[in-house]
Amino acid sequence: MDKKKIKEKLEKERDQLLEELRDMGKLNIETGEWEATPEEMSSREVDQNDMADRFEDFESRSSMIRVLEPRLNNILRALKDLNKGTFGVCEICGKEIETARLEANPAAKTCKHHLNAQV
Ligand SMILES: [Zn+2]
Repeated sequence: MDKKKIKEKLEKERDQLLEELRDMGKLNIETGEWEATPEEMSSREVDQNDMADRFEDFESRSSMIRVLEPRLNNILRALKDLNKGTFGVCEICGKEIETARLEANPAAKTCKHHLNAQV
């Protein structure tokens, strides 16, 4: 297994996710969680329809962030594991995760056998 290649892949995915998250919200430094940012109000005279649109937009940003954030955290964890040298070990059985599986998904937490196990 080429760890350098895997690290590069993870870092690339991390940067892409960060870029997407920055488009939709900002990182709350106090909680360490990403939050959707509402669009700037350009005018004080905002009618009801406009308010509804903004709300929908904010809701869709929030739900995108809820999808992206766990993916980002997963990648950050995998990068941490790489640095600690504990990368590629199944969280359930402690055995090495199959190389093919890691190549497909470097942030995988479990071996093929424990693919559907709840961690
Ligand atoms: Zn396992």
